[in-house]
Amino acid sequence: MNDYWEKDIETISRTALEELQLASLRSTIAQAARSTFYHEMFDRHGISAEGISSLDDLRSIPFTTKEDLRKNYPYGMSAIPLRECVRLHSSSGTTGNPTVVLHSQRDIDDWANQVARCMYMVGIRNEDVFQNTSGYGMFTGGLGFQYGAELLGALTVPAAAGNTKRQIKFIRDFGATCLHIIPSYATRLAEVMYEEGVDPRRDTKLRVICIGAEPHSEEQRKRIEQLLGVKAYNCFGMSEMNGPGVAFECTEQNGLHIWEDYVIAEIIDPDTLLPVPDGEQGELVLTTLRREAMPLIRYRTRDLTCIIPGDCPCGRTHRRIARFRGRSDDMIILKGVNLFPIQIETILMQFRELGSNYLITLETVGNSDEMLIEVELSDLFTDDYAELQALAREITRRLRDELLLTPRLRLVARGSLPVQEGKAVRVKDLRKLI
Ligand code: ADP
Ligand code: ZN
Repeated sequence: MNDYWEKDIETISRTALEELQLASLRSTIAQAARSTFYHEMFDRHGISAEGISSLDDLRSIPFTTKEDLRKNYPYGMSAIPLRECVRLHSSSGTTGNPTVVLHSQRDIDDWANQVARCMYMVGIRNEDVFQNTSGYGMFTGGLGFQYGAELLGALTVPAAAGNTKRQIKFIRDFGATCLHIIPSYATRLAEVMYEEGVDPRRDTKLRVICIGAEPHSEEQRKRIEQLLGVKAYNCFGMSEMNGPGVAFECTEQNGLHIWEDYVIAEIIDPDTLLPVPDGEQGELVLTTLRREAMPLIRYRTRDLTCIIPGDCPCGRTHRRIARFRGRSDDMIILKGVNLFPIQIETILMQFRELGSNYLITLETVGNSDEMLIEVELSDLFTDDYAELQALAREITRRLRDELLLTPRLRLVARGSLPVQEGKAVRVKDLRKLI
């Protein structure tokens, strides 16, 4: 299905795209210089829009970090007067001072267009009924998708988060064909449907869902697609870059196109801060190209991914990034071994006997740090003790092969682990700092 929301820009030649990026970068730097934060930074480092003669010159500008946003809370990064701003989003601030992102009307319109482009790419059209199960309010997955879906012309149902039975009622009564949903909640929704005797294939019109906001494995995606009888597409975004719509999978389901007319994407080694070659994992660094109210230059996302080399058969020329394994701060270091929760999920999801909810606890037992993995069984499985033992042994063996350490495994009954309404919390770190 090679049909585009904005064909000219989505299939633009690389040379033309780079020319556009250079012009946008220059105006972004001029715009950023109006904020107190960048004004001081540019003064210190002798940076000006006129001094940028190629895209490579971007590398001479220092990075911007989440810490910078926190320190300049709430308005220190704004590049236009507050009376020209029309929206503010603020992050939860669970780990320190919150951050604030400001938007002008043009920023909001651009964001809506970016989301509409993504939704169109995965086959969502104005005939569709699109139910958004994201939290609204400060969480950008709510309003971000709302405005994008309306611009696209879909009938949009702002169901917001939670109340699963009501979600199911809406899906059925309003004939929802598409959803935006957090992956951990998608499996929960499917489970409740089956409990209620609702077969999503038979009793709903669901066909396409957009899943994002938290890391998830390919195995989890397949499971969601099977359970709900839909195609599920990975969507990536973050509040600092507006929210959803920064990068999105096309129907090839092989990497997420990052919209390079809106951002310049770099992948750097988080230790040396030098660029890494395509295909190699590193930290995603983004520069906004059209932001008016709050341009961000070389923003360190802390999200780890790589550029997928080569062209995409869909015809879009914007480069693709790989599925995210998590943030650099999600990495667990246990007994000197570095690992990501997503590696554990990938193994667990291969066992049909297991449900989708799991919890990793890191704890100090005596003098050593241990990992406990609790995972819910699916309904399909037996309560025969010997069979459960055999299953636990097999899962532990597979985990050991992947992680190079042996976790303790506890198989628990379905419904016994906590369920979050927002992003799933997969890791509890109770280790004592000695
Ligand atoms: P917060 O920073 O408070 O978590 P955001 O909603 O801005 O709030 O979260 C953005 C982050 O969520 C990203 O930086 C990334 O770590 C994660 N994220 C978003 N979409 C995806 C996705 N599709 N896959 C993996 N992680 C994602
Ligand atoms: Zn593609």
